[in-house]
Amino acid sequence: MQIKSAEFIMSNSIVAKCPASQLPEYAFIGRSNVGKSSLINMLMQRKSLAKTSGRPGKTQLINHFLINKNWHLVDLPGYGYARVSKTSKKVFQKFITDYFSKREQLVLAFVLLDIRHDPQPIDLEFMQWMGESQIPFSIIFTKADKLKPKALERNVETYKQKLLETWEEVPPSFVTSSSSGLGRDAVLDYIGNINASYFNS
Ligand code: GDP
Repeated sequence: MQIKSAEFIMSNSIVAKCPASQLPEYAFIGRSNVGKSSLINMLMQRKSLAKTSGRPGKTQLINHFLINKNWHLVDLPGYGYARVSKTSKKVFQKFITDYFSKREQLVLAFVLLDIRHDPQPIDLEFMQWMGESQIPFSIIFTKADKLKPKALERNVETYKQKLLETWEEVPPSFVTSSSSGLGRDAVLDYIGNINASYFNS
């Protein structure tokens, strides 16, 4: 998919106030500092699209961007400021869980994971919650340029094995680097293909 246009639409914390259009949308979420803003800017080939909404006061909101005038990219707040708590509700702010539970336009979420680290409880807990809530998601591993190829392969495999302890299958996953652009075409084509079936159905 070529990116012809990418426009910031709105930020808010109330799901009912998100854009009313029926365009398909894809949400990006991960621990703070996982590289989400960088990834969004890399995918959209804009220097500071995500940062525009990341100005003070806007980072803890649901941010909608209109892409190619026919789908929404949603930048959700980073999680993980608090240490892992017993209930996901304490860790994930209510409006985020509301967004996932109520937003009918949501086609798929991308859960971002920093490939340098071992599987972290907070990420595993979040994906567990997504699974239990039946929200489709795929995984984007970030910062691939920070590891040598062997370590990269090993960490991806470690993550997949960890997921297979609780999941029957591993969700689709992408290895990306915002520095090198690795994974850009794969992620955009994946979205493009889902959109094609969405618009043709
Ligand atoms: P966010 O909090 O998830 O939006 O994370 P940012 O996009 O602000 O990135 C956090 C830090 O990681 C920044 O210092 C980025 O420059 C760095 N970073 C993000 N993505 C990459 C990447 O793909 N490669 C490298 N080397 N650094 C990255």
